[in-house]
Amino acid sequence: MRTTVLLVTALFFQFIMSPVQGQQISKRQLQKIKSATQEEVENRHKETQVMIDKVFSFAELGFQEYETSKYLTSLLTAAGFEIEYGVAGIPTAWMARWRFGEGPTIALGSDVDCIPKASQYPGVAYHKPMVEGAPGHGEGHNSGLPVIITAALSLQNQMQAHNLGGTLIVWPGIAEELVASKAWYVRDGYFDKIDLCIFTHVSSNLSVSYGQATGTGLISVEYTFEGEAAHSAGAPWRGRSALDAAELMNIGWNYKREHLHPLKRSHSIFTDAGDQPNVVPSKASIWYYFRDITYDGIMKMYNDANNIAQGAAMMTDTKVTSKIVGTAWPRHFNKVIAETMYQNIQTVGLPNWSAEDQTLAQAVQKEVNSDNTEGLATELSALGKPLDRPRSGGSDDIGDISWAVPTVTLRFPSNIPGLQGHHWSNAIAMATPIAHKGGTAGAKVVAMTVIDFLAQPSLVQQAKDYFNNVQTKETRYQPMITEKDPPPIYLNKGIMETYRPALESFYYDESKYDTYLEQLNISYPELKKSE
Ligand SMILES: [Zn+2]
Repeated sequence: MRTTVLLVTALFFQFIMSPVQGQQISKRQLQKIKSATQEEVENRHKETQVMIDKVFSFAELGFQEYETSKYLTSLLTAAGFEIEYGVAGIPTAWMARWRFGEGPTIALGSDVDCIPKASQYPGVAYHKPMVEGAPGHGEGHNSGLPVIITAALSLQNQMQAHNLGGTLIVWPGIAEELVASKAWYVRDGYFDKIDLCIFTHVSSNLSVSYGQATGTGLISVEYTFEGEAAHSAGAPWRGRSALDAAELMNIGWNYKREHLHPLKRSHSIFTDAGDQPNVVPSKASIWYYFRDITYDGIMKMYNDANNIAQGAAMMTDTKVTSKIVGTAWPRHFNKVIAETMYQNIQTVGLPNWSAEDQTLAQAVQKEVNSDNTEGLATELSALGKPLDRPRSGGSDDIGDISWAVPTVTLRFPSNIPGLQGHHWSNAIAMATPIAHKGGTAGAKVVAMTVIDFLAQPSLVQQAKDYFNNVQTKETRYQPMITEKDPPPIYLNKGIMETYRPALESFYYDESKYDTYLEQLNISYPELKKSE
């Protein structure tokens, strides 16, 4: 009897309390919810600043994002998210899930790793490493998840306040600079039950695009040659040099380069070039990124490189093996999400930059001889539409996710325009008011766009229609990795072990200092003394 009463009571409460997908929401009501969401994000500006500064101070390379992941998941756990750790066999990867009733499942992600040798004091307009030779946020990935988490925490409150049902999944792009996590997430099914994905990336404007993105996809492959060691002077005729083979492969590929279409790009480093000159190297390795604007083009380059590697092995009587270290599909973004998001971009607009922000930006642009000397962006970019002619450039493994679920990347204005990228100068703005304000603008757009989709189920369907009937109509996603390829989680371990002790003394302590600039005793902006 008592159970029945409880059950009836429970059902009753579920009926009146359970969040619904908001079919009955009027345009006016929707606008009200979005204004409240925007206001909530604005009120969380301090939290956003702390997160951006804190992740900046950890300065962790791909697969070594231990402090970053520990810190960010602790915030999400405190907010009631359930966390799955060690996603896709990657120790620093995780997925955080928060469900409120029925509704679409929306994934919100961004990258977290930094760049080798990019250590740099923030707010200082010239090269001044915090720890000489150490990694640093010379791209600005420290701002991405703070934007996402600010949006997610604001959404939790707004979804509850307005009874909007749905599930939020917050996730990190681990080792994006190695493009070595997202294809593994897709392979291992982490995006199978997700309706939409909103990804963010630092930029110097507030923008979004649809269709094939500017830039390339890539396959990252390491070739290892194995020969025979010998005394380099005593019995060189008994040696078979693996390094000769790696060098010959490089020469072969560089001849090939003359005949590559200009949209293709490739670059390499030697990861093992022997130990010392008097020992014929028995092992040597060379690591390539092969980039093109189509999957077929990438795989053709990969095939050609495999042939050149075999040729180099034959010439030197060595053996060659190879392994895939990373992959990224060329990106294709969803038209319906992009158009919806762009309306919110226009509502939010660019941040109000202070005179100090502009002074820093222009000083940095001058310092690196940029063509752009205008400082920070003051005009919004237009909605990015498919290009008549594709343009080459970088890659991002969000590409793989964009072929698994309808996806866009919101680019938010936390950095200075006109810098060369993957460089200490790209770290300068990343723990200053420029990054903080850009982050708040980005979080507003993310949160408001999620509200649009939670409140209007027909929009979710339209986004899926574009994905099913336009995007994937002629192109079929084929993973570049097999079921067996493991994520290369060993990468960057040694570098982080070398620099972490020195970096630890620079971790941001938000309990003692209002901002990281304050902790570092920087009077913002710090300009070069004129000589
Ligand atoms: Zn990036």
